[in-house]
Amino acid sequence: MIVTLSETAAILASAQRVVITAHGNPDGDAIGSSLGLMHILRSLGKDARVLLDDDIPAIFAVLPGYDIIGRPSAEEEPLEADLVVVLDTSTDRTGCTLQAVKAPHLLNIDHHQTNDASAEYTYVAPARAATAEIIYDLTRELPVKMTKDMAMCIYTGLATDTGFFRFSNTTSHTMRAAAEMLDLGVEPNVISESLEQKPYKTVRDIGEAISMTKMFADGHAAGIFLDEATTARMQSTEAFIGMIRVIQGVDIAVVLKVKEKDICRVSMRSKGIDVSRIALQFGGGGHTRAAGCTLLMPFEDAKRTICEAIAKAIREHQDAQTKRENP
Ligand code: 5GP
Ligand code: MN
Repeated sequence: MIVTLSETAAILASAQRVVITAHGNPDGDAIGSSLGLMHILRSLGKDARVLLDDDIPAIFAVLPGYDIIGRPSAEEEPLEADLVVVLDTSTDRTGCTLQAVKAPHLLNIDHHQTNDASAEYTYVAPARAATAEIIYDLTRELPVKMTKDMAMCIYTGLATDTGFFRFSNTTSHTMRAAAEMLDLGVEPNVISESLEQKPYKTVRDIGEAISMTKMFADGHAAGIFLDEATTARMQSTEAFIGMIRVIQGVDIAVVLKVKEKDICRVSMRSKGIDVSRIALQFGGGGHTRAAGCTLLMPFEDAKRTICEAIAKAIREHQDAQTKRENP
């Protein structure tokens, strides 16, 4: 059932024991919005905790509450709660968290246009740049006194999902929310310097990955394709896509890596063509300009499949453009 912002606030207000979770491979918005909501609910006297079914990158240690993020256990007795809140994804990408918690109610808060609204209660706001921006909206619906801890977490979600306020999803509302977080004591450089930290090896890996870049679709697309052996010796591939999305003339950038045999992860970025539609074809999702999916096939097949889908989307976009210009 789709709910409004004020109904979302009321659902949160009526629960005492709340478990908050988000998608695997958690990014700044997943972690920031989860910890931000945890601090807010705790300040309202609730028993709130964050469970994430994945490793949490150490760069997020700057965030208050990082140390108390828990990991769900499928083996232990389920944790009892009144409400589970899934942030920044539909309920399908939360690993084993939902099995590890026993709660009568499930609330999903997200900003992805591809959200499947399968939860008991769903609040989706695709116009918001980050789930953290929705958490900020909720603070105006709840009797909460904002603190620097909450602000650091919300700011991190806002900053990371907007590429530090550069992407097209950045709105005046995003900027105002961020400005309020600065008024509460957030030091932007402290957050950005912590998040930018990379091990020496990762910087070397970025160099190697850039040198592997392949152009396709007549120069309208660029990709980095990492086979199983290459993926295995690289610690973090997160930064790769940002390096190739800037290539002149490139409409869609893609990074494909082999997570396990016959399981390939795809990340896409675009300058306007809807890549969430490409991701949806393969059971993934995301936003117009940033989306991802998993292809259950061998590396070479996955590479061919995603390149064909991207080239087709580019062709269709060009055809539509030609039609608009010559009606
Ligand atoms: P990234 O490329 O950074 O992993 O993801 C880009 C965007 O697409 C993010 O907003 C992310 O949540 C979404 N996304 C990535 N992979 C998937 C997927 O497999 N399913 C869905 N529904 N969304 C995804
Ligand atoms: Mn997000």
